[in-house]
Amino acid sequence: MNARQTLIRGGLVLVENARFAPVSLLIEAGRIAALIEDGDGPPDAQVIDATGRIIIPGLVNGHTHSHGALGRGGVADDATLETFLAGASALNGGRTVDDLRLSAELSAAEMIRKGCTACFDLSVELPGPSVAGIHAVAEAYHAAGMRAVVAPMISDRTIYQALPGLLEAFAPQMRAALAAITLPPWQDSLATCKAAFAAWPVPMDRVRPGIGPAIPLHCSDDFLTACAQLADALDLRLQTHLAETRMQQVAAMRRYGTTLTAHLHSLGVLSARFSGAHGVWLSADEAARLAGQGAGIVHNPLSNLRLGSGTAPVRALADAGVTLGIGTDASNTSDGQNMFEALRLAATLSRAGGDPPDTWIGALEAFRMATEGSARIMGLADVGRIAPGWAADMLFLDRDYCHYVPLRDVLSQIVFAENGAALREVMIAGRIVFSDNRVLTLDEPALATRVRAAAARLDAANTDTRVMAEAAATVVRSFCHAACAAASHP
Ligand SMILES: [Zn+2]
Repeated sequence: MNARQTLIRGGLVLVENARFAPVSLLIEAGRIAALIEDGDGPPDAQVIDATGRIIIPGLVNGHTHSHGALGRGGVADDATLETFLAGASALNGGRTVDDLRLSAELSAAEMIRKGCTACFDLSVELPGPSVAGIHAVAEAYHAAGMRAVVAPMISDRTIYQALPGLLEAFAPQMRAALAAITLPPWQDSLATCKAAFAAWPVPMDRVRPGIGPAIPLHCSDDFLTACAQLADALDLRLQTHLAETRMQQVAAMRRYGTTLTAHLHSLGVLSARFSGAHGVWLSADEAARLAGQGAGIVHNPLSNLRLGSGTAPVRALADAGVTLGIGTDASNTSDGQNMFEALRLAATLSRAGGDPPDTWIGALEAFRMATEGSARIMGLADVGRIAPGWAADMLFLDRDYCHYVPLRDVLSQIVFAENGAALREVMIAGRIVFSDNRVLTLDEPALATRVRAAAARLDAANTDTRVMAEAAATVVRSFCHAACAAASHP
């Protein structure tokens, strides 16, 4: 037996566009070596019997946060992005390097279970990044067998420094306490990132570094420019949260006198390496600027609904030529990382505004965003399609499951009905990492025990921070509401 070759036989495979065919797949060195229409393939290859399976490329999560997994359930019912950010240190503060690793393992386990084979992770460590913390997250993805861009999420302004006028909305005592919170100088954070990238702890083929200036308003201009220069110098992908809320555009007009994207453009930050997460409040001018620079936007429909951020103008962005991907955002802000849900919402939400059907996001268009689109944003040119030379990242769905009985339009039934319930196996780089309802690369029961203990310890340690955050949230909410109500744009 040639152990270096695997032959997947008997499956119904997505071979191009929306066309499925009963072909065999020859896998070698983590890649798809050939699609075999007739015949048996090499006699000495290891055989995987995929009879009764529908085989599609793995879903690619273009935007998430591994730290969110350990914060699951910790977001208030009525949280907006801004009140969530005001309380973020109560969820993410006080974590050890082991906690960061643990959260990334938990996050990876969830994504694999829900059919995601690669992700762009903006992972935060408070008050600032450490080499050990960045490496712990990279090691967690490597051990889980996932593909990932690990981009430390960094800022040099708190939300109180980021939003002009916010601090002044607080009573003096609270204002003084909030004004005293500071983040490390950006030069220190970037130096730490550089050191972490120079001594990258795992092979770069699956898990590679990126850079994540959190939100433009939360980063000084020199910092943003330095991040873009670092991305160019080291060939990294850069992702930020772009126009996630109307408040961000209102604050951009106050701080910059222009839109977020126009400001980033003037700084030279936009490029083919650049992607913005969310992009809910982008204008036509901003879409044109992004497209002109080859930049991307990652659509996070469920998170945008959960936090009341709005509905992204996906059709307008696509028509402008912006590269589009789909993401889940973190397990706290969208309460889970189910790429099948994100995929379905990307298609269905485009129909919610009463626009004509020829402007809706179709099943194939949404599916491409959730596979090749997100992969392009991650810088992965050979991920997201089942074709010779492409990565062997694939999902095996049970065609006897109710979603596929009867089976008429396979891709439509996947996009509009699948939620992960029919997922039986997951392959990443030619290796099966999920089978028999078990993630094979992680000890999930032991992980759950560690997670419960860590969450109890962190919740107890962060009690005072949480009380202060809840008090601050009331003022943040009314400030944002008044600022948006008073603005005549966008
Ligand atoms: Zn995010």
